Amino acid sequence: MSFAQQGTGISNGIAIGPVHVLSRGELEIPEYAIPLNLIDKELARYQHALEVTRQHLRQVRDNIPRNTPVDIAEFIDTHLLMLDDSAFAVIPLDLIRGMQCNAEWALRLQRDKLVSVFDAMDDAYLRTRRDDVDHLVNSVQRVLLSSPIHHGVKHSSEHPLSGYIIVADELSPADTVLMQHQGIAGFITETGGPTSHTAILARSLRIPAIVGLHHARRVLRNEETIILDGQHGWMHAAPDTYTLQYFHQRRRDIQQYFADAVRNRHTPAITLDKVPISLQANIELPDDIPALLEVGAQGVGLYRTEFFFMNRKEVPTEKEQYETFCDVISQLDGRPLTIRTLDLGADKQMDDASASTQVINPALGLRAIRLCLQEPDLFIPQLRAILRASVQGPVRMMIPMLSNLHELHMLMQLVNETKRQLHKEGHRFDAEMPIGGMIEVPAAAIQAEMFARELDFLSIGTNDLIQYTLAIDRTDDEVSYLYDPVHPAVLKLVHQVIQAGRMCNTPVSMCGEMAGESRYTRLLLGLGLTEFSMHANSLPDIKTNITHSHRGHLQQQVQAILTTQDYATFRDHLDQFLDTD
Ligand code: PEP
Ligand code: MG
Repeated sequence: MSFAQQGTGISNGIAIGPVHVLSRGELEIPEYAIPLNLIDKELARYQHALEVTRQHLRQVRDNIPRNTPVDIAEFIDTHLLMLDDSAFAVIPLDLIRGMQCNAEWALRLQRDKLVSVFDAMDDAYLRTRRDDVDHLVNSVQRVLLSSPIHHGVKHSSEHPLSGYIIVADELSPADTVLMQHQGIAGFITETGGPTSHTAILARSLRIPAIVGLHHARRVLRNEETIILDGQHGWMHAAPDTYTLQYFHQRRRDIQQYFADAVRNRHTPAITLDKVPISLQANIELPDDIPALLEVGAQGVGLYRTEFFFMNRKEVPTEKEQYETFCDVISQLDGRPLTIRTLDLGADKQMDDASASTQVINPALGLRAIRLCLQEPDLFIPQLRAILRASVQGPVRMMIPMLSNLHELHMLMQLVNETKRQLHKEGHRFDAEMPIGGMIEVPAAAIQAEMFARELDFLSIGTNDLIQYTLAIDRTDDEVSYLYDPVHPAVLKLVHQVIQAGRMCNTPVSMCGEMAGESRYTRLLLGLGLTEFSMHANSLPDIKTNITHSHRGHLQQQVQAILTTQDYATFRDHLDQFLDTD
């Protein structure tokens, strides 16, 4: 029987193919006594298993494709170091000797001890390290038990995975690299978040993928054909002929669509009444640049730098950040780059564990500029890196989550001090580097004029503006039905910000998801928006809408809708307007 389930789509694209379920399969760990005269042999057996595991990890590390963006090698090196730590290299040997037990059992006892220590930790980051322990213990146990070293990632000689959709409870980055070598069509995991190493890898390796599809391994069987829609997060099992035909066609359409977009990338985004519209792209990683160049984006309107801080143990240094910014600037080849300062906090933590475990209302807590102003040790290296990179190309700096002018003044003080310090040290920087602010808190939108007077540019972050205006947690499924970009209150704020910019001669762009939603292009043009920034994939659609629109006419229509007093009529007219092509 056909059925569909939704998880979180983390990597766009449609995959259609047979399932291969990877079952970690809880290992049966035997416990038995070892006679004294055989203890040395048992110790050697354990050490041999450690060595085989090391070799396997090195082999994976040495086969990482050169263009892999995330430092997976470093990740694997950490596992290698852990294997050399006394927790793995010494204590299990002591246990084998002391308890005269088999190696598997000694390792099992040691694993339980380590995990209970990690579980008791308050620090969310350290708590997640228990997963590393489990990965490693499992690998060593499999060698000891003479089973394949990893949970079923088969080598191509045994079972070619080419064309398969992998279904697993979770996947490590190393698995993902291995499987990409084997030509998988896509993957689904039951757990995992969109900012995990694995998700980041999937996107950059362009593997369609879904995470958080609960019970996927229970409901899917090996070899059955499924459809994976990595954009919307849907998995369709036992699809009927009609559904299959539909998704085959969609896959062809997507391919054709992007081929056309690449061909038309030089077509200018100009309305029918000759108003040029700026179309830029949002990026999370330097590896997103080729995709934006392919579709002809004019630059980067939002570089979410916090992704560089996630899924790693150490905060990136100034040097690392500087080099990354220089790399992005050089790839952009003269196109403008808007670097947003760190927007950590709320659902974006430095590690996978959500801050919600520590703070009751993380979205209203110490986030973005608030966090940066409180933690100069975190922020100053980034400020220095941005300023130093600003001489390499057209760079603008953008501040997230401003809610009052005091924050802006404190920020400017820090920027000026940083400039003085850089000057003293003999570093070059663009003294005139434009500094802008995101308008994503209702208080800032209401006071947009004051921000517009003091800043070089504004950018409307509708994702948060909607969240805070309508009081809906953007990460909470239960209230997502209330998410409404055209709620009159939201439209009023967006309009107000655009007008404030015009009055103060301060450019205003929009970089929230609304800018990339085709349904709203005409409305935004009608509201007076001339700068859009979005995910590269959305850009071709938005450009088509723009080239088919007469901005002057749209402004008249939208003005008439906005001045409608009665809500029912307003909504009626708005819906009619949105539904008109
Ligand atoms: C926004 O809030 O609209 C935005 C672009 O920023 P982020 O989604 O990173 O919070
Ligand atoms: Mg935001």
